[in-house]
Amino acid sequence: MSKKTVNGEISISQTNLHDIKKIEFSFENDDSQSENEKDSQSNVEENEFEKNEGNFFEEDLDPDQHKDPNTCLNWIKYKENSCRYDSFMTIFCLVLFNKDEGFFNPELSEDNDPHTEQYKMLCKIAMDINNKNFEALFKLWNYLNLPIHPSVTGTTKVSIDKEGVGRYGSVSILIPLLNSVYGMRFQYLLGSYCYTCGDNKIQRKFFHVPINFELIKSNSIQSCFDSKIKKTDGWKCFKCEDKNRSEQYLLLDSPNYLVFYFETEGKRIQKIYNDFKFDEAITISKLGSTREERIKVKYNLIGTINYPYENHFTSSVKDPMIYEHIADGWYLHDSALNDGRLVPRNGFCNIVKENPFVFFYKIDLN
Ligand SMILES: [Zn+2]
Repeated sequence: MSKKTVNGEISISQTNLHDIKKIEFSFENDDSQSENEKDSQSNVEENEFEKNEGNFFEEDLDPDQHKDPNTCLNWIKYKENSCRYDSFMTIFCLVLFNKDEGFFNPELSEDNDPHTEQYKMLCKIAMDINNKNFEALFKLWNYLNLPIHPSVTGTTKVSIDKEGVGRYGSVSILIPLLNSVYGMRFQYLLGSYCYTCGDNKIQRKFFHVPINFELIKSNSIQSCFDSKIKKTDGWKCFKCEDKNRSEQYLLLDSPNYLVFYFETEGKRIQKIYNDFKFDEAITISKLGSTREERIKVKYNLIGTINYPYENHFTSSVKDPMIYEHIADGWYLHDSALNDGRLVPRNGFCNIVKENPFVFFYKIDLN
C-alpha cells in the first residue's frame, strides 16, 4: 500500500540522514536576555564597588592589617618576567583551587594523564603561595622547566615550559596542567556523514583544557563555542574521498568548568571585532536522558587571563577566595602594579580593556 515514490535516491539518503539526525542539536542565541542581565548588572556592580571601597573583611584581621584594608589583598608581585606564572597562579589559587577543594584535590587527579605529577606540584605550590610564600612560584617554574621523563612525552625528554626561568614565554603551556583534574576534560560524540557514499560514523572524543578558539566569523564567546561544535560540511570523505562529508558534535557531559583560549597572536579581540561580546554567562546544550532530549546548562565567567600589552599578562578574578576570605566582585591583578595587590574593578566591563584572551567559566548549579 506504500505510495510508489519513484525517487529512490532521495529516500535512501533520507534514511541515512536520519542516523545523523539522531545526534543533531542546536543552540539558541539568547541575546535579549543577556542585554537585560547586563543592564541590571552594572547597577549591582556599582554598589559592590562602593561596598569594597569601605572595609574589607571586617572580622578576623590582626590589628595591623585592619589599619590598611588593602593589605589583605596583597598577592604575587612581579619579578623577572613572572607575569605569565603570576596570572595563571592567581586564577588557579583564587577562583579554582581555594574555592573548590574537592574538585581540585590533587589526590583525585587522573593517574594516566601525562601532567599528573606536574599538577600535584602545582597544588603544593598553590598552598605555599596561599601562605604568602610567593617565591615558591619560581620553584614551579623551575620544575616545569626540567626535562620530563620520556614515557610521558614519547621518545624525547622535553620540558613543559621550554623557556628558561625568568624568560618571556606564553601562558598557554601552563593551562593544560588542569587536564589531569578528573572532570576537567569532557566527552562528546563526533558524528560524520558522507552525502556521496552514505558512510556514517560516530566517534566518542574528549575536549581537553583549554578549548581553543580561532576568531572566525564569531563576535561573542557564546558564538565562538557554538560555531566550534556546529554542523560543518565539505569535509573530505575518508571512504570515497569526495569533499562531501558533514560533521557535527553532541556534548555528553557538562563539566564543572570550561576554559577557552583565543589564539589571537596578541591582537586585541576588540580590534578585530568592534562589537565583540565577552559573555559573562554562556549556555551549552548536552544530551539528555533520551536521544532527542537536550539539556541546557549555564556557565558564569569567573576569571580571565589578559594580555594588556606585549609580553605582559594580568588576570581578573570574580569573588576571589584569598586567605580564606571571599572578596565580592571583580578584581584585577597586575603583579607589576599596586605592589602586587588585587584591585577591585567596577564590574567586568572594565576588565575588557585589559584584552582578556583566556576565559574560565564555572557551571551555574542554581
Ligand atoms: Zn564518502
